[in-house]
Amino acid sequence: MQTAERIQELVQLINKYNHLYYVEETPAVSDFEYDNLFAELKNLESEHPELVLPDSPTKRVGGISEKFETYKHKYRLYSLDNTYTYEDIEKWYEKLVQEYGSDLELVAELKIDGLAIALTYENGLFTRGVTRGDGIEGEDITANLKTIKAIPLKLTKPVSVEVRGEIYMPVTSFEKLNEENLKNGEKVFANPRNAASGSLRQLDSRITAKRDLSMFCYTAIIENGDYKPQNHYDSLMYLKELGFKINPNIRVCKNGQEVINYCKEWEFKRHDLNYATDGVVVKVNQFGVQEDLGFTARAPKWATAFKFPPEEVSTKLEGIELSVGKTGAVTPVAKLTPVSLAGSVVSRASLYNFDEIKRLDIRIGDTVLIKKAAEIIPKVITVLPSEEHDHLNIIEPPALCPSCGSTLITRMGETGLFCENPDCPAKIISQLVFWASKDAMNIDKLGPAIIEQLYNLNMVRDFSDFYALKMEDFLKLELFQEKSAANVYNSIQGSKKTTLARFLTALSIKFVGKENANVLAQNFQSLENLMRASIEDIMNLDGFAEKTATEVYNYFHNEQNVAIIKRLLLLGVVPEHISMVKSDKLKDMVFVLTGTLNSMQRRDAEQRIAEMGGKSSSSVTKNTTYVVAGDSPGSKYDKALKLGIKILSEDEFLNILGD
Ligand code: NAD
Repeated sequence: MQTAERIQELVQLINKYNHLYYVEETPAVSDFEYDNLFAELKNLESEHPELVLPDSPTKRVGGISEKFETYKHKYRLYSLDNTYTYEDIEKWYEKLVQEYGSDLELVAELKIDGLAIALTYENGLFTRGVTRGDGIEGEDITANLKTIKAIPLKLTKPVSVEVRGEIYMPVTSFEKLNEENLKNGEKVFANPRNAASGSLRQLDSRITAKRDLSMFCYTAIIENGDYKPQNHYDSLMYLKELGFKINPNIRVCKNGQEVINYCKEWEFKRHDLNYATDGVVVKVNQFGVQEDLGFTARAPKWATAFKFPPEEVSTKLEGIELSVGKTGAVTPVAKLTPVSLAGSVVSRASLYNFDEIKRLDIRIGDTVLIKKAAEIIPKVITVLPSEEHDHLNIIEPPALCPSCGSTLITRMGETGLFCENPDCPAKIISQLVFWASKDAMNIDKLGPAIIEQLYNLNMVRDFSDFYALKMEDFLKLELFQEKSAANVYNSIQGSKKTTLARFLTALSIKFVGKENANVLAQNFQSLENLMRASIEDIMNLDGFAEKTATEVYNYFHNEQNVAIIKRLLLLGVVPEHISMVKSDKLKDMVFVLTGTLNSMQRRDAEQRIAEMGGKSSSSVTKNTTYVVAGDSPGSKYDKALKLGIKILSEDEFLNILGD
């Protein structure tokens, strides 16, 4: 294809994608694919400046809908140039140093994946809030922004300032909102960014008020006041002083390598945050240099963004496979055209259940967006719009178990289809595979393929059979020689001494995953104590409702289960309780967490409290020592006020933990 033709094609395509993304809020491709097309267009344009088209998307920012009144920005808003490579960051820095010398400072910040907003304050009072829109004008959403608690209505000083930042929805609130919307048959959002955007651009601000939104601020244009910061970092500290929320993970860097170290650090740590970030923004710190560098038509020359490797890509759904899990749940697995995602080639993705297929209206042949999930297998998050979709075949749920042929049933209060046959081979194999898995007994050399062979050769039928196997038994398996046989044998034998929590997780008791197993181990301290416990004893534990407690009790009162456990112990498996307490700094203290924490997930906070000898509880009583209030705290906050319990902010809580 001729260059001019390709440029025209790219311009049309990217402009179409921009409209779908910014105005209709239904992206048709993943961000990674969009960024690749954009980079291709930018390259072609720089090689052939004579071919640049007047409506090229490289010369403009975003898009604007007609839903709200538009407002012309006093100061233009820009986008950011971006890259996916460290090499480009290094090159960008080197070029700046050549011009400004090595005194140049950079500030690295997390790139919050939300919605850019400009807030105007006159003499310390909030007067207007506008979306970025096309950078020249945006949508006036002042009424909606007033419902967000992180946006101060009055500043600590009577200054006039325009503040920019990103509105976001915490990940846990996004998940909760989707769960509720799913139940009520309302729109389910593909990611926290879409949820934040959809919640903010509501014509009825009462709806916005109900959504948990927050804002990190990252730019200040000070018009009058008592202080004029000389660099970006100081301006952020000033914003904090005025009452704005600033991201706590900002770092001043002396060179490109320090920025790269920051990017590498956050590429992993970002998964512990309760908000989405898609990269790192790097800015020149000194305002003098910023002014000197100025802007292109679309972005500042004094800043750039490093984007984390994509965790979402699109690919074609080629078919559906059925998998039978350890609880008998029969789940559909998507077979995909292989595609590269976060460093590995992916050809299968989870679809959860057939209700999900119906809800997303996924059909064989559709182009779907898949996302890397915490689990090993990625998940399908949405179908991308296409013209073929309506002509493709609808996927029907199966009637029979693909492994044993039993009729599948639905269970009261649970989603999905289940095979109830206790002897279903696929179900037993799933339980055996789970027994050996990392979170359970962690028998690293005993993988699914070996377990399947052991089962098919009738050598293993329950967990205890693993420990009765002799080294030579493994020689009966395909491709096994003495060394590989010894490896698996030793790996199994090495797992015998284990923690009580791992052992309880490995048993696959209904409703008892890793977290509940930890609580059981922590409280009963030995297998014997737990096996002797009554339903009431178990129900006393935090998070154990009657349904869960009954399942645990019934498991240990089932003859067959008890026989397997006795044989495991006879064969030398020793589950022992190991205390996770590392210090007694919080001994005798009871914490109640409410609202969303920015620095960690709630369960991590609870673990940290337990490690320091403290306890977490879900309800506020007069025995509560502290209530920790994150963003948008719930009724526990009011109850703490009523009972006079001390309330800690997130910062105060982190201080107590010693962070
Ligand atoms: P961007 O999101 O890549 O970067 C610019 C934005 O980053 C700023 O406007 C600001 O809102 C935000 N930001 C977050 N944290 C920041 C911080 N600490 N400091 C400064 N800014 C910060 O650019 P964009 O113009 O908003 O959108 C373009 C991107 O959107 C594309 O790169 C692509 O990933 C995505 N997009 C996707 C599609 C699609 O169809 N999938 C279509 C259009 C755009």
